[in-house]
Amino acid sequence: METHRKVIFESELDKNFLGEVKEKSHSEEINRCIQCGTCSSSCPMAEYMDYSPRQIIAMVKHGFKDDVLKSFTPWLCSSCYSCQVRCPSLIKITDVMYSLKREAVEAGVYPRKLPSPALAQEMHKLIARNGRNSELWVVVNMYLRLKDFISPLKMAGMGIDLMKTGRLGLKMEKIKNRKQLHGLIKAVTEENK
Ligand code: SF4
Ligand code: SF4
Repeated sequence: METHRKVIFESELDKNFLGEVKEKSHSEEINRCIQCGTCSSSCPMAEYMDYSPRQIIAMVKHGFKDDVLKSFTPWLCSSCYSCQVRCPSLIKITDVMYSLKREAVEAGVYPRKLPSPALAQEMHKLIARNGRNSELWVVVNMYLRLKDFISPLKMAGMGIDLMKTGRLGLKMEKIKNRKQLHGLIKAVTEENK
């Protein structure tokens, strides 16, 4: 029988993780977390998460990098900011969730079963290329990335209804000066290396 070790040894923790998250999320206050749980009790998505926002902050503080980056939690965060505006220690919890998503994608360890990482990456690709989002094409590309050909069929009726009411279009939206946009993205990317 295969067994899975749940205990994590101190030597497996990443002592640099807290510093990295602080820098990337511009949230120097993480150290000040008092584990009051206000964030988790304010979070409308907490019951679906594998770790609550309070647990994620504690795990970031103590270097549980692997578990945090593989967690579903940041991907289920709806960016409502309820936790952030209520945190008594002024921790930018929502911003931390964003930075964890970015890091999980960069490290290639995001949860593959969830559609939201695929959606985020396809939307980023399209906006970086065209300067605009085109909902239909983001969804099509997302399902292609997920190799899921059944879900689009199930949602076809809703898509047709949205098209009839002009809420979804076939046209690929693009801004005029895309060269300028590409130059801007390149400059920002190089500056953040
Ligand atoms: S609300 Fe703020 S201080 Fe309280 S547990 Fe959450 S992050 Fe920590
Ligand atoms: S911003 Fe995210 S983590 Fe914070 S309360 Fe909203 S859904 Fe939960």
